Amino acid sequence: MCGILGYIGNENAVPILINGLKKLEYRGYDSAGIAIINGNSAIIEKDIGKVEDVEKKIALNSMNGTIGLAHCRWATHGSVTKENAHPHFDCKNEIIVVHNGIIENYQQIKEMLIKKGHKFTSETDTEVIPHLIEEHYQGDIVGAVKSALKEITGSYALGIITKNEPDKIIVVKNESPLIIGKGNNSMFFASDVPAILE
Ligand code: GLU
Repeated sequence: MCGILGYIGNENAVPILINGLKKLEYRGYDSAGIAIINGNSAIIEKDIGKVEDVEKKIALNSMNGTIGLAHCRWATHGSVTKENAHPHFDCKNEIIVVHNGIIENYQQIKEMLIKKGHKFTSETDTEVIPHLIEEHYQGDIVGAVKSALKEITGSYALGIITKNEPDKIIVVKNESPLIIGKGNNSMFFASDVPAILE
């Protein structure tokens, strides 16, 4: 388990997220990524290696948005690859999830979702979450997350956003650490205090 954080407010989330990820580096990790929603586009940039390496690959000037998620991964399910790095999308590239922890019953959920036609792009336990939320989604992300969580067992801290409802970040936790920070016209969440202290 490594780190997650998220931001929603009036400022560009990208530098805030990259800065926050660097504050979580002390925990050790193998890959990093960020997701941003800007108007009708939801963008994920991620790769193996350090935040600094991933940062070099991200065209900071072209990435801009006032809501976003970030993750540094300590792989538990699936090898250290770009595909397995977080954040993860659903099939439609509309719902985005970052996760710390382990989904214990992911194999059964994955088999059920594949039968329903979902296409997976990673080997992670985490990727079942955005697809399961997609399965329940009918225009209400909070309701869809609540329904999905009834089917999931394991430890998790989750950050969830969707480009269909770009005015909210959903956070949930079970066993894994998660804190919420309130700023001026902005909200933060993170797996540990240093990420949002500034
Ligand atoms: N179990 C997830 C994975 O292997 C999350 C790992 C983490 O907490 O960083 O991708």
